[in-house]
Amino acid sequence: MENLIDWSKVPNDPVFQLVFPQREMLDPEQYHDVETLLRKGHAQDSLARVIQRIRLDLNPYPAGQLTHNVPIFEGRPLWGLQHKYRETVLFFPFHGQSCHAYCTYCFRWAQFINMEGVKFASKDTVDLVAYLKAHPDVTDVLITGGDPMIMRTTLLRKYLEPLLIPELDHVQNIRIGTKAIASWPYRFVSEPDADDCLRLFEEVIAANRHLAIMGHFSHPVELEPEIARAAIQRIRNTGAQIRMQAPIIRHVNDDPEVWASIWRTGVRLGLIPYYMFVERDTGARNYFEVPLVRAYEIYRQAYASVSGLSRPVQGPTMSAFPGKVRIMGVITLRDIMDDRMIETFSRAHGGVPAIHADEPVLICDFTQARDPALVKTVFFAALDPHVTWFDQLRPAFARERFPFADEGDRERILPSYSVTECLLH
Ligand SMILES: *Cc1c(COP(=O)(O)O)cnc(C)c1O
Ligand code: SF4
Repeated sequence: MENLIDWSKVPNDPVFQLVFPQREMLDPEQYHDVETLLRKGHAQDSLARVIQRIRLDLNPYPAGQLTHNVPIFEGRPLWGLQHKYRETVLFFPFHGQSCHAYCTYCFRWAQFINMEGVKFASKDTVDLVAYLKAHPDVTDVLITGGDPMIMRTTLLRKYLEPLLIPELDHVQNIRIGTKAIASWPYRFVSEPDADDCLRLFEEVIAANRHLAIMGHFSHPVELEPEIARAAIQRIRNTGAQIRMQAPIIRHVNDDPEVWASIWRTGVRLGLIPYYMFVERDTGARNYFEVPLVRAYEIYRQAYASVSGLSRPVQGPTMSAFPGKVRIMGVITLRDIMDDRMIETFSRAHGGVPAIHADEPVLICDFTQARDPALVKTVFFAALDPHVTWFDQLRPAFARERFPFADEGDRERILPSYSVTECLLH
C-alpha cells in the first residue's frame, strides 16, 4: 500500500480501486438492504442470509466451473481440479486459497468466503497424480488459487514435488498463477524462506520441466518498486519464465497507454506479455466492466504502440463457457466487398447482406475451447457498443445462430449438479 498507491489521488488511484471496495460496487438496493440491517443491529443470521442472497446474485462460479470443469474420475468428482482444455489441468492446493491482494474484481471471490463449504481445493496431490497418470494428453498443470505463493515453501514443495516423478514426464509445463510479484514481492527476496522457494523453482527446472510463473499485473506501477524488480531478477535467475496477464478493468487500467506501459516495462525486465482478459461476468461486474468494443480499441492502440516483443499478448480474451474467445477486429461488409459483390451476395441471401453492409461487426475467434475442434473457429458478432460479455453477443448479418453449438454441451460432465445444488450441498 505504501509503494503502489498514490494517496494524494485517492479514491481515483488505480491500485486503491484495485484493492479497496467501493460503495458503487453493490447496486443501491443491495447496499440499502445491508445498511438497514446493520443500522437496526439485526441478528447475525438475518444479515448472513441477506449477504448470501447478494452473493448468489453475483454469479459466484461463472462459465460452468462448478458444473462442467470439475473432472469425474473413477466415479467421483475431484473438487481440487478443473479440466476444461485437453492440455491443461488446473490444480487448487488447499493451502493456496487465499491471497495477498484481495482485488475487488477477483473472479475467485467465492473461494475466499467459504460459500456453504464449496471450495475448489485439495489437501494433497494423491488425486492429481492419479488423474495425470491416466491422462497422458495433459502437458500443463496450472497451480492456482487464490494465490499459491501465499504458501510457505515447505507447503508449496509438498504440492510441487510429486509432479516431478518420471511417470509424469508428459507434464512438461508447470505454471503457477500469482500476483505476489506485485502484491508481496518480499516473498521472493527477504522472507525467511525466500531462498528455499527459489531452490524449489530450480528443482522443478532440474527435473526437465518448464516453470512458468503466470504473473498477474494490473498496472505498470506494480513493476516500479525496487523490491518487485529484485523479485523478478531472482525468479528469472532460477530459469523460470514470468508471463504477464490481467483483465481490463474500468477505474484501474482501461487506458491503452497503461497497457502499453505494462508490456514495455515488463519486456524490459524480461517478462513475456501473455493475456489481456476481459473482466468476467461475476462479482461487482457492473462497476468494472468495459464494453467489448472499447476493450478491443484499448488493446489495438496499446498493441500498435509497442514492438513485436510485446506482441505475443493475446486479447482481449473472454474465458467463456465454450472456451476462450478473442475479439480480433471490427469490420463492415463494405470494407471487404465492393458494391457489385454485395449485390450478388445479397441476391443469394434474401437481401440481408445489403441491408447490413455498413454495420460494423466484431470478428471473434476461439483461442481455446472445451471442444478442440472449435479452436481457431472465427465468427462474426453484431457490434453493440454496450455489450460486455460473450453471452450478450448476437450473430452478425441477421443470422439466427453462431456457427458453434453451446446448448447441447451444457448437459455434460456433472449432470446431477446444478450450481445451486452444489452451493447447498
Ligand atoms: C485459460 C485457461 C487455461 C489455460 O489456457 P492457455 O491458453 O493454455 O493459457 C486452462 N484452463 C482454464 C480453465 C482456463 O481458463
Ligand atoms: S490476485 Fe488473483 S486471486 Fe488474488 S484477489 Fe486478485 S484476482 Fe483474486
